[in-house]
Amino acid sequence: MSDQRKPFVAGNWKMNMDAASSRALAAELAAAAGSFGDVDVAVCPPFPYLAVVAEAVNGSPVELGAQNVYHEPKGAFTGEVSTAMLLDVGCRYVILGHSERRHILGESDADVNRKLLAALDAGLCPIVCVGEKIEQREAGETGKVIREQFEGSLAGLSAAQASKIVIAYEPVWAIGTGKVATPEQAEEVHADLRSLLEQRYNADVAAAVRIQYGGSVKADNAASLLGQPNIDGALVGGASLTAEAFLPIVEAAAS
Ligand code: PEP
Repeated sequence: MSDQRKPFVAGNWKMNMDAASSRALAAELAAAAGSFGDVDVAVCPPFPYLAVVAEAVNGSPVELGAQNVYHEPKGAFTGEVSTAMLLDVGCRYVILGHSERRHILGESDADVNRKLLAALDAGLCPIVCVGEKIEQREAGETGKVIREQFEGSLAGLSAAQASKIVIAYEPVWAIGTGKVATPEQAEEVHADLRSLLEQRYNADVAAAVRIQYGGSVKADNAASLLGQPNIDGALVGGASLTAEAFLPIVEAAAS
């Protein structure tokens, strides 16, 4: 982590929880927030529980995020949710281009880019996910894949817009598998992403953007990952579903 960037830990609840457990977990996190230290914390519940969680974290430093959004502002888009709706229920963040959306639901870089521009226009803070598959890593293509996702997902962003985003490096092979990238593997990609930001924009943008690591982050590996100079926090899936598993990761980010 760097002194310049405030660490940021976000929990991606994916398609888990119900109303009661969402409310209970959010309330537990809000109650613990006094001891968070200097770290931003957000939870990203499924759409139906956003309002429930918003109410439970209201007045606490725990922020709300969504797991997806649609780029059109309103209209005949059955099943989709707009940026205005997310803001209306109290979201500050939105996860975009998660690998499960890219690889299971077929989202392309162009889709992510449309959503990213819409989210920024609306004043949401996007968490843009990038990451390679295992066969791409084994073929030595990690750098190329990350660069293509970076360029495609961030197409058309100004420096001012880019400085407002969060990037999450999430190697697909490490998500939900228990296989975590080594701190060195993760740091290499984070440093590459920061160079891409500097080449495409400037040193200020590169220094400002927080880059989270995601992929089987747990209490016992968080400190070594977050100790890397270009890792500014974590996007946490499985370990965000209980306060016992999530809070030690927040603590590791704060220390
Ligand atoms: C994720 O969902 O973004 C994620 C990183 O999941 P997990 O922590 O379970 O690997």
